[in-house]
Amino acid sequence: MIIINTKLDDVFHESEELIRLFLGMTPVRREAENGEEVEYEITIDTEKKDGAWFASAFAHDRDIPVQKASYDCIGEGELLDRRARSRAVKFALFRLMKLLLPDSYTPWGSLTGIRPTKLLYEYMSRGMSAEQAGKMLHENYGVRQDKVDILLDIERMQRGVRDTLPQNMLDVYIGIPFCPSRCEYCSFASCDVKKFGHLRDAYMDALLNEMQLMRQYMDKNDLHTGNLYIGGGTPTALEDDQLLRLLEACKDFVPASGEFTLEAGRPDTITESKLLMARDHGVSRISINPQSMHDITLQRIGRRHMADEIEKSFALARSLGFDYINMDLIAGLTGETPEMFASSLDRVMALSPENITVHTLSIKRSSILHENLSKSERTAAQDVDDMVQHARRVLKDGGWYPYYLYRQKYMSGNLENVGYAKEGTQCIYNVDVMEETHSNLAMGAGAITKWFDKEPYLIRRAANVKNVQEYIARSSEMAQRKMDLAREMFPHHV
Ligand code: SF4
Repeated sequence: MIIINTKLDDVFHESEELIRLFLGMTPVRREAENGEEVEYEITIDTEKKDGAWFASAFAHDRDIPVQKASYDCIGEGELLDRRARSRAVKFALFRLMKLLLPDSYTPWGSLTGIRPTKLLYEYMSRGMSAEQAGKMLHENYGVRQDKVDILLDIERMQRGVRDTLPQNMLDVYIGIPFCPSRCEYCSFASCDVKKFGHLRDAYMDALLNEMQLMRQYMDKNDLHTGNLYIGGGTPTALEDDQLLRLLEACKDFVPASGEFTLEAGRPDTITESKLLMARDHGVSRISINPQSMHDITLQRIGRRHMADEIEKSFALARSLGFDYINMDLIAGLTGETPEMFASSLDRVMALSPENITVHTLSIKRSSILHENLSKSERTAAQDVDDMVQHARRVLKDGGWYPYYLYRQKYMSGNLENVGYAKEGTQCIYNVDVMEETHSNLAMGAGAITKWFDKEPYLIRRAANVKNVQEYIARSSEMAQRKMDLAREMFPHHV
């Protein structure tokens, strides 16, 4: 257990987040409870002087000097003021924890709760070049140089595809929360069709109702789709007639010139008839996600298909004319060595998909894996780091470059998920979502709409209920919730 001495609640919470990078779920408290053993007692002090916040972090009973950091307050306002203080606190504490636990895996330094690319763009918006902004992240946040290099590549790959939609366009997401079986690491609210497949028809009724209400709202306010994305779950876990209903309803949302993506996801749901239907309704991009190309791993993680089915699905999709295919892999799946990961990557690269996304295993509380896995079975952080570094090297040599990146809580080795693309094949929807530059209208169970106002920069969220049965009963209310929030933010909306 760790004790943090600070008078300020938000400084306490920020310290808790930072300590999680080093010590996972070790409890962080203001004072010891019931004779718990105290590993470290740390005092944090903050002070504002001459337009900058100064923070110091000190570990009691340790022979380690006080660690300090400071950040200038850029701009006026409480939010910006707190942000500068938070950054100073996190970096001072990061430096201290690094001295206390030098072997910890912290490739992203003191960054928590912010997308690294957003921070890069924030510094660039103050007139810095990308290189200068990257140097800032390295020196003032402790971001490892190889991670700064990825960010610089991403910045290059996002030029011309980031923040491209006009004011009256938004991205549209439609969620299908059904899968043919549940993967052990999954934390999405997705239903196994074997148990919940009977709900699919009622779900489609509810979803189409929400889509119709939101279409009317868009029409009244002259809003248009920039890019359309059907995700999940696994949308192709729908039966043919259900998928056809969905694709017909999507006609009202298909963008005039943007992308239309369908996550086909699992090869055990991909059939020629579904792909043909998708193609004939304008789907321009699909995903076929292996996660691993080893049968033993696929069985272990709860997939009901073999690696060669992935290759067959890919060949089928290509033969039907799909020119933009993404494939996902996960580094750090239980039982996988760096060699196994490397051979999966080789097999995927041999197919030559336009996009390859390399995820790092994240074990969330809601996953089956969280319950079943003992600490010793986790792939070591060093191995996962080797896997992602290997991926970056060989993908770059093969002509795939990073174009978006995000981090989640509880990721192996505090690493990241990176989307790679061949030049000119970046998925703009993904860039929009990651960089939060446009509104995202999201429909379906568990979907989270983000309304975005550029001036002043503001994002507000409206979340749909996750439970499928509840969603079926309340889809009109979900649409209303979104419209109410939008009217509050944009008073000219009707
Ligand atoms: S395919 Fe994706 S959404 Fe479905 S169970 Fe597996 S991880 Fe979850």
